[in-house]
Amino acid sequence: MNEKLLHFIWKFRLFHTDGLVTTQGEAVEIIHSGTYNTDAGADFQNAKIKIGETLWAGNIEMHVQSKDWFVHKHETDAAYNNVILHVVYEANGNTAHTKSGEPIATLELKNRINTSLLSRYEELEKQQSWIPCAKFFPKVDDFTRKNFLERLLIERLESKVTQIETLLKESGNDWENVMFQMLARYLGAGINKEPFELLAKNLPVNIWGKHIHEPHQIEAMVFGVAGMLDEDFDDEYPKQLRREFLYLKRLHNLVPLPKHVWKFLRLRPANFPSIRLAQLAALMCFDAKLFSQVMEAKTGKSIHRIFDSDVVDYWHTHYRFDKPTKQAKSHLGTGMKNTLLINAVAPMLFAYGKYKDNETYCDRAFALLETCEAESNSIITGWKKMNLTGNNASETQAMLQLKKQYCDQFRCLDCAIGHKILQS
Ligand code: SF4
Repeated sequence: MNEKLLHFIWKFRLFHTDGLVTTQGEAVEIIHSGTYNTDAGADFQNAKIKIGETLWAGNIEMHVQSKDWFVHKHETDAAYNNVILHVVYEANGNTAHTKSGEPIATLELKNRINTSLLSRYEELEKQQSWIPCAKFFPKVDDFTRKNFLERLLIERLESKVTQIETLLKESGNDWENVMFQMLARYLGAGINKEPFELLAKNLPVNIWGKHIHEPHQIEAMVFGVAGMLDEDFDDEYPKQLRREFLYLKRLHNLVPLPKHVWKFLRLRPANFPSIRLAQLAALMCFDAKLFSQVMEAKTGKSIHRIFDSDVVDYWHTHYRFDKPTKQAKSHLGTGMKNTLLINAVAPMLFAYGKYKDNETYCDRAFALLETCEAESNSIITGWKKMNLTGNNASETQAMLQLKKQYCDQFRCLDCAIGHKILQS
């Protein structure tokens, strides 16, 4: 038993409610269990409980053992003066009282809870499988799973809105800059996410936007700020970029990152940060108003067209400076285009919809995810083994949210699937 499980049992009244009596011997009738409170203060607020002949309105505090009231020092805290009932798993101490000395009725639940619920919870707790409920998950009905996954998609988008709001605050509400930062971040997907993010912060749109008709200047700024031009090259192209950057650096006060922040190890050449930076530069040359472009694009296909911008010729035969290769895979593949659409474009549309209080943008974000193909990664494969498949990116995003934010953190008591399992 733990307090969270006790809260769950109280919230959904998963105990025998007939003939309830306090440890002091008075009959108890629960009119309203109260509203669950996860902030400071009593666990359930605004409950209505009839004790004996008196109808009480106030808060409920819960503990595994009644003596925990004193362990937590609630008897000295005026915030607990409004507690009308102390609900405990096991009554084993003095009767709780408020700071003003008023005794609080105690209700013990120990012998009233269904033992199968407790043993199921214990099974979940002990499971060593890919997810705690692996044994039960395939038997949970489709309706419960589908409904919960729909909620999780919104939850995932909302968590990205929080991230976007922070970037907006830092950039003085500049949506174009934030779009650029989000695209850069996900171009570095995986191990180069942070340096890409730093690069985008060190190279704001109002600076590079003046040079979009000069692809070499854009490349000079991108590779220069990335800290990749500070060496002696053999090829003429990086030498030219280096010269260009020395001028642009002074002109715009640009601050290069240390070169060592970039990770090449264990990456396929097509994912090298140098190629991804060249793709970012190509995207920048498409338009300095990438957010406006995205807002105008009505379908996933038209957004993919924005990402089709080609890199400069040098990168058709190189993955890194001074290292020629026959033919480099230097265009953005469909997988990366979808990554940008799922993680940067759709959340930006959703965030803008929230910001403007206009559901049209939020609906477009949902539609984009629904028409984007399902993601493929180890988590999605894991779900397949649990008999759960995602047909499009909106479903796979929800599946990622479930695994990362619920299963991996053993939040089965916050999960509709967990509720179904425990109550069945
Ligand atoms: S969080 Fe939900 S889906 Fe995940 S293991 Fe727990 S009950 Fe199962």
